[in-house]
Amino acid sequence: MKSIFFNRGKFSLGEILFVIIVSVFFMLIVVYDDSALRPNIELKTCLANMKKLHHATRLFIMEDPNIIHITPEMLLKKKYIDKIPTCPTYKDGKYVVSDEVGEAIDILCVHGANKEMGHGSFLLLKSKYIDKK
Ligand SMILES: [Zn+2]
Repeated sequence: MKSIFFNRGKFSLGEILFVIIVSVFFMLIVVYDDSALRPNIELKTCLANMKKLHHATRLFIMEDPNIIHITPEMLLKKKYIDKIPTCPTYKDGKYVVSDEVGEAIDILCVHGANKEMGHGSFLLLKSKYIDKK
């Protein structure tokens, strides 16, 4: 029986190269997807954490308008949240409540000594990823 693929009984160099190229191509897709999706999932989790803290902070301020310098620990103590969330990307980081008088309440994902590090401002990320949908 004559096959169109194995017409000489052996693989030709071209056929072997084709198989290798296709394999590498699919491996690249798998690697690319993995590295592209994970930060996205972590960012989404971080955003959900900040959303929860933002909501809790607003409730806290609604019930006690004179309260300032709110921390996640205070939200936990007052039972506005059931546990203090941690960012999946910056595990040694923390969430900071920004409740300066006259400014919008914001939650910051902060990592290390520099406040610019971490995922940053909830309000900024929200306008970038949630509001635009
Ligand atoms: Zn984060």
